[in-house]
Amino acid sequence: MNSQNLPNTEGGVFAQISQLDHEQVVYCHDPESGLKAIVAIHNTVLGPAAGGTRMWAYDNEQQALRDVLRLSRGMTYKNAISGLNIGGGKAVIIGDARTQKTEALFRSFGKFIEGLNGKYITAEDVGITTQDIEHVAMSTKYVAGKPEYMGGSGDPSPVTAYGVYMGMKAAAKKAYGSDSLSGKKIALQGVGHVGEYLLEYLIKENMDIYVSDFYEDRVKEICNKYKVNGVEKDKIYDLDVDIYAPCALGATVNDDTLKRLKCDIIAGAANNQLEDEQIHANLCREKNILYAPDFLINGGGIINVYYEIIGNYNRERAYKHAEKIYDYTFKLFEQAEQHAINTHEAALRMAKARIEAIGKLKARL
Ligand code: NAD
Repeated sequence: MNSQNLPNTEGGVFAQISQLDHEQVVYCHDPESGLKAIVAIHNTVLGPAAGGTRMWAYDNEQQALRDVLRLSRGMTYKNAISGLNIGGGKAVIIGDARTQKTEALFRSFGKFIEGLNGKYITAEDVGITTQDIEHVAMSTKYVAGKPEYMGGSGDPSPVTAYGVYMGMKAAAKKAYGSDSLSGKKIALQGVGHVGEYLLEYLIKENMDIYVSDFYEDRVKEICNKYKVNGVEKDKIYDLDVDIYAPCALGATVNDDTLKRLKCDIIAGAANNQLEDEQIHANLCREKNILYAPDFLINGGGIINVYYEIIGNYNRERAYKHAEKIYDYTFKLFEQAEQHAINTHEAALRMAKARIEAIGKLKARL
């Protein structure tokens, strides 16, 4: 999320976990397999904590802790605002995903997850593949995002893209009075899994599309395949477009880019788009840029995983749920306007209100 909302790494572990209101943090260590992992359970009011596992070669343990605390908190709000009955959690495995993966490591990780008795359900995140998930699933039943041949929900990216598309249309409705994207000019940053699926929806709307990617050959491939315009990665912020869709990295909405962006709408799939949640959400508001909160409109992936968690997975049901992102987003814009607050703050309030209401209800029943 941002410097302001990140846990202060100066204090001890307890100081850090209490700063963002975490319930529990579990360190998992297995010298035999080389496993070093941290599981962060942020909030379980709505149900068991759910969120993916990230494998990353962190420079140090503090960095890993900081990441898992921030990501798990994000999952609490994403799951709550998406109307799911799961809480927020996340895990990180400290290690290089290209060189340090073994079956034993993931089976060992699965044993730790099993030991939490269902308080945390894991899935894929950066650095983790469905093959790794298969290995985790050999040691625990508390894992989702399994491949389709194992009865799982498979790749969540298409559903994520659909949700982002719904959120973008709701933003267009609010900004232009119509949710048609036809003729609008868009800068799509990152044509990876989600970016490409999103692009397919945008093409059907007859948009004027500009794409960038970290890899030039990927841009070429996409431009040839879809007949869209390629742009150098650092020039994407300078285009005169109606919509900026960040689908690559976090923190691309910051002091520098907000000086350059000329769009009316920011709506994309990337997590943690605002470098500083409050400062940059306020700046968007001041500049009359309608920011569609990332953790609301990119919820399609966890919605897809949720239907696997509750059993009898049905992709159609996941898409139906992701379609509701349109209504959720539009309602959120109305609330932000009504209360004269930025859209990120409005989304946080919406998520917290649901957690509080359902928490009270559960206490009564
Ligand atoms: P991905 O790795 O498949 O795609 C990301 C793409 O961005 C890659 O093609 C990469 O080359 C490109 N990229 C990296 N740095 C870039 C830069 N500086 N400029 C332009 N392009 C750059 O990832 P994905 O699964 O498509 O996810 C995209 C984003 O959406 C990520 O932030 C991810 O956390 C978020 N997200 C994904 C899902 C999902 O279901 N996959 C769900 C929720 C959120």
